[in-house]
Amino acid sequence: MTTIQADPATDDLKALAEQAGRDLEDASAPEILQWAAKTFGKRFCVTSSMEDAVVAHLASRAMPGVDVVFLDTGYHFPETIGTRDAVEAVMDVNVITLTPRQTVAEQDAEYGPKLHDRNPDLCCALRKVKPLEEGLAKYDAWATGLRRDESPTRANTPVVGWDEKRQKVKISPIARWTQDDVDAYVAEHGVLTNPLLMDGYTSVGCAPCTRRVLEGEDARAGRWAGRAKTECGLHE
Ligand code: SF4
Repeated sequence: MTTIQADPATDDLKALAEQAGRDLEDASAPEILQWAAKTFGKRFCVTSSMEDAVVAHLASRAMPGVDVVFLDTGYHFPETIGTRDAVEAVMDVNVITLTPRQTVAEQDAEYGPKLHDRNPDLCCALRKVKPLEEGLAKYDAWATGLRRDESPTRANTPVVGWDEKRQKVKISPIARWTQDDVDAYVAEHGVLTNPLLMDGYTSVGCAPCTRRVLEGEDARAGRWAGRAKTECGLHE
């Protein structure tokens, strides 16, 4: 098992990520997370949108007390904040809430109201991408809940890859899972899920940019509906 030192060289991390992506392609999600816990220790975290707590639950079993990073954009549904609070209360994880530099009111004052309707890329950059970049600075590796079946843009997601933008190892332990796999894991382990998933939403983001999905649409069709935008910039 490869164990890295604190502040490893970027080239070493990148090589490690690429090798692990090949080695772990057929590994189970718990095996991938056990590798992450052993390899990175406290320099590893999980990010969660609080759509559900599946990856946080898996990671807490591999590494009790694992950091779970949540981006509070100021635009979340109350149900999402409630899910975050419930995860913090009942799971063996350390929830870290990141916030943008500006409140929504401060952003409105500088850029005008409803920036999300006029320039969602800038709104996401200010309220998601930048805070995450700063929040991940102390880690070498981060885990996400990305799945290949969610949308065409996620079809090639590696289980372990290199995040060129942030120069970190990016781990997607459930990349190969289907929605049925997620549902089965939630049912078997009683994992917390966002109540909006029972109300017609299949992907939960900020309230102004999320709608319920229609019959036959892919899981992320309710995000930035009617726009060419499909990702917030966190996974590009
Ligand atoms: Fe702004 Fe919408 Fe992006 Fe949230 S998802 S940060 S409200 S543009």
